[in-house]
Amino acid sequence: MKADILKIREDFPILSQYIHNKKLVYFDNAATTQKPRIVFDTITEFYSKYNANIHRGIHFLSNYTTDATEKSRKTIQQFINAEKSEEIIFTRGTTEAINLVAFSFGESFIKENDEIIVSEMEHHSNIVPWQMLCERKNAKLKVLPFNEIGELETEQLNGLISDRTKLIAVTHVSNALGTINPVEDIIKIAHAKNIPVLIDGAQAIQHLKVDVQKMDCDFYVFSGHKIYGPTGIGVLYGKKELLNKMPPYQGGGEMISTVSFAKTTYNELPYKFEAGTPNYIDAIALGKAIEYLNCIGLEKINKYESELLKYATEQLKQIDGLRIIGEAKNKSSVISFNMEGIHPSDLGTLLDHMGIAIRTGTHCAEPVMQHFGITGTARVSFAFYNTLEEIDILTISIKKALTMLK
Ligand code: PLP
Repeated sequence: MKADILKIREDFPILSQYIHNKKLVYFDNAATTQKPRIVFDTITEFYSKYNANIHRGIHFLSNYTTDATEKSRKTIQQFINAEKSEEIIFTRGTTEAINLVAFSFGESFIKENDEIIVSEMEHHSNIVPWQMLCERKNAKLKVLPFNEIGELETEQLNGLISDRTKLIAVTHVSNALGTINPVEDIIKIAHAKNIPVLIDGAQAIQHLKVDVQKMDCDFYVFSGHKIYGPTGIGVLYGKKELLNKMPPYQGGGEMISTVSFAKTTYNELPYKFEAGTPNYIDAIALGKAIEYLNCIGLEKINKYESELLKYATEQLKQIDGLRIIGEAKNKSSVISFNMEGIHPSDLGTLLDHMGIAIRTGTHCAEPVMQHFGITGTARVSFAFYNTLEEIDILTISIKKALTMLK
């Protein structure tokens, strides 16, 4: 992989830019990843040659684009090993996918005094839709805590579950801590009590091999833009049996079978959940991003990113006053940290002027910050196009920033 990296970087033109007259070092991959040329070439190609609204046409362009959208659905199905392509629903992203489930599953299955369990390390996207559902239904949200190194206290799960628990929603990988959660264990515990589980895969899908059948999750959600695809497109995977029992999320074109003022009937999966003109060109480009990843190979990517994580952790730990927040044994390529006496945003601003893009703040995970009694962290997050040399630039630049800030 190391030998291929320069060639791989050529596929990402944005990476060769200079920002503030410094070669860009992009370490904000957990917020969004950069796109390989094939993704935006596909978007340009479709808008310039093939664009026509899908599903409803009888003409060449409409059929061509419809086929390309369905091909992308198949690519995604195979990528996560879903049993059926109709279990793949296009959404705007992780957030919309979770809202869809919270609304639709909530309509069918959540009643007064029922309980939903989330973890303490969730992104707001996997907290707030459940809180809104609980408010609507007068149900209760329970929280599975994590320990001081940022690992979920899975042994407490059985104690939290009651005969009123109707759903468990947890993140596969924490965006604020980098922890890879033991989702298969959680699913086994939940399924022993017939409780379905939603896995937020926003920070996992681009790093780990996901097999939804092996994992046996009931729902798996992710965003296209975090897996080198476009913004505004994402995926909800759901088991067909469950999705069939859930009502549509939005009403409109394409989600119907027949409409009359007396009675409307709904379309079959996946269209029942894709009301209106979908974001089909970005869906097609997402398929291309996944084909690109498949060509490199997720195993190779995972191995290389683990090296980046290990090296960066060792280097950062040598900096005086730097404290890593989240030191789980099983981590993905995210490092959150704080510097004694220095506000993360001051550090982030100085690094920006040195050409290094990192993220600072709460990372939409305020309960994680509350757990540690902090207001935010600085976060670096890696992708397979990053290099060990860039990590050296980061460490040197942090040291330089410290001399300026102290
Ligand atoms: N869940 C996790 C773990 C995330 O990291 C994010 C985004 O950072 C989201 C959900 C929300 O993703 P999006 O904003 O693409 O819907």
